[in-house]
Amino acid sequence: MALLVQKFGGTSVGSVDRIENVADKVCKFRDEGHDLVIVVSAMSGETNRLTGLAKEVMEHPTPREMDVLLSTGEQVTIALLTMALHKRGYDARSYLGTQVRILTDDSHTKARILDIDNQRIHEDLKAGCIVVVAGFQGVDEHGNITTLGRGGSDTTGVALAAALQADECQIYTDVDGVYTTDPRIVDSARRLESITFEEMLEMASLGSKVLQIRAVEFAGKYNVPLRVLSTFEDGPGTLIRIEEDENMEAPVVSGIAFNRDEAKLTVTGVPDIPGVASKILKPISDANIEVDMIVQNVGEDNLTDFTFTVHRNEFKKAYAILERLAQELSAQTVKGDDKIAKVSIVGVGMRSHAGVASKMFEALSQEGINIQMISTSEIKISVVIDEKYLELAVRSLHSAFELQKEAVE
Ligand code: ADP
Ligand code: ASP
Ligand code: MG
Repeated sequence: MALLVQKFGGTSVGSVDRIENVADKVCKFRDEGHDLVIVVSAMSGETNRLTGLAKEVMEHPTPREMDVLLSTGEQVTIALLTMALHKRGYDARSYLGTQVRILTDDSHTKARILDIDNQRIHEDLKAGCIVVVAGFQGVDEHGNITTLGRGGSDTTGVALAAALQADECQIYTDVDGVYTTDPRIVDSARRLESITFEEMLEMASLGSKVLQIRAVEFAGKYNVPLRVLSTFEDGPGTLIRIEEDENMEAPVVSGIAFNRDEAKLTVTGVPDIPGVASKILKPISDANIEVDMIVQNVGEDNLTDFTFTVHRNEFKKAYAILERLAQELSAQTVKGDDKIAKVSIVGVGMRSHAGVASKMFEALSQEGINIQMISTSEIKISVVIDEKYLELAVRSLHSAFELQKEAVE
């Protein structure tokens, strides 16, 4: 008998039939004697549909009203799931973020959880009730509804598990665990039995949307045992581990992540004098635009080319800032490309192995894929390439590092 927080994602509650399926699953766990807190997402597609409605009304709605709108998706699913549990004869109650009191800061549409009041949930659990909580939402200190950013129900699940000191936080989704790469892109991707927090954090922040980054951060910070599993089939899923397994030689590369969310900007022919990087990047950061990768090359005549990447949504804004700056900097040109992709290999084993980068670059060159930018850390190497080669790059790296399923005899 354990206290489990189980989170079911959008596809898992995507129709009334699927909600009934989740209810059957939850009842089975209850019959085994577990105390259960269930977190649900909105039905798949609902958050996008609501965003679309807002855009029909106005192009830039205020973030506060977006949160009032987007949080409705999860209100529907908590009520329907709770009804389905009642129909099966189980005691259950649903709660919105504000009713639990999931207190967040006031950064609408990307709020951070500050505190969770666990009293009401504890009382319900003690009374034998299944508690169903709306994912993705909270409330700020003034009572305004907030949301936690796309994929935020994962974070609700992990934060509740931390606040309740649950035995495990289980993320139920439409794949049966964390794979070596997105199984929708590479058929031979393999489910990992386990992955370290550090690797999962890199995978999530480099584009693997199977878990929201903040959920992984939270789980690492509060030591929440975390597992990703399938809603639709039984299996062990993937455990996110705190420790590296000392008995096992860590694979050099554990996984490949990618994203298409970035765009690249270059200022060419800038006089290479101290302060140039700051002159270019300060107005960008003043405009609240986050910069990811940066490369600076010194060319002839002490002129430098300065390249960096930003989120694709910020591309036009950043481009306009650079065009204004170009004259002031005596730059030759400003160039931009929003058809790029970032592909990254991740693995704690990289720390103790040389030659990983050259193997990566060779695999890409064999496919004729040009690398535009490179960045590395202790446990990852990322490259920027032309977006049209993304899938080819991921597949060729997957096989170069032999991440595929073992062949069935
Ligand atoms: P949910 O709605 O349940 O939160 P998501 O769509 O957010 O589900 O996350 C699950 C999806 O993540 C999978 O369907 C898969 O396509 C994608 N994904 C990306 N990278 C990976 C990976 N390395 N392992 C497993 N799934 C991945
Ligand atoms: N419904 C929200 C989204 O689609 C939150 C979530 O599903 O985790 O992003
Ligand atoms: Mg998700």
